[in-house]
Amino acid sequence: MNQLPMNQLETASGGKMSKIIVANWKMNGSNAFINTFFQKLTPKSPHKVVFCPPYPYLSVVSSHIKEYHYYLGAQDCHTNNAGAFTGDISAEMLIDIGCQYVILGHSERRQHHQETSDIVFKKSQMAIHTGLTPIICVGETLNDRNTKNHLDVVKQQLIQSIPQTTTPLIIAYEPVWAIGTGLTATLSDIVEMHQMITTHCQHKDKVLYGGSVTTDNASEILSQPNVDGVLVGGASLKPEMLNTIIE
Ligand code: PEP
Repeated sequence: MNQLPMNQLETASGGKMSKIIVANWKMNGSNAFINTFFQKLTPKSPHKVVFCPPYPYLSVVSSHIKEYHYYLGAQDCHTNNAGAFTGDISAEMLIDIGCQYVILGHSERRQHHQETSDIVFKKSQMAIHTGLTPIICVGETLNDRNTKNHLDVVKQQLIQSIPQTTTPLIIAYEPVWAIGTGLTATLSDIVEMHQMITTHCQHKDKVLYGGSVTTDNASEILSQPNVDGVLVGGASLKPEMLNTIIE
């Protein structure tokens, strides 16, 4: 990766540019873990930090983050707001317990729960209608990239997953082959994809990168044009690493 100077994270006026850091804890955590985690986390940040723990811990995490002005997000929601959907959680419930964000269409949901872009579209519509900001995930497989179809595949996901809205959205570009693998896209691959995504989004939407973001690569990824933040999985479970990424 090309090393870019840290000061590219600064605005023209010399102030720090605010980024979005989303911590996706996936199916990890416990009450004991959360207590220890927040004792080690640096309290204040100029950036928007969104914690997405599993459903049972949303309220526990909420009580920890309130005083630090961090934000709360869930990892999914249903297409409906109430009804006979055993085991599901609605956007209205998430709002009710203090969530502002919801991750939708994560590749692990697309893979393990057969979520199509059509379902992601309906979930996104419901989230927006209810007042949540969806963090809509898109990304190509390794085969898509090797066959040079990555841009088309992601463009189709954008077209099929994102509803027409004036609400500002967050799009997370997460190459499937980079999630939890220790592999990251090259900086030029990230810039190319974010450029394409930006041209297909509203001006006020934000575009994040996700895929094995760690303390080693976060600052240079965050320094790239059109990268408004990062979605962090594994490293967000380690408070020392998350502190460094945020800093
Ligand atoms: C993710 O959970 O979306 C993710 C990018 O995970 P990791 O950072 O572990 O690759």
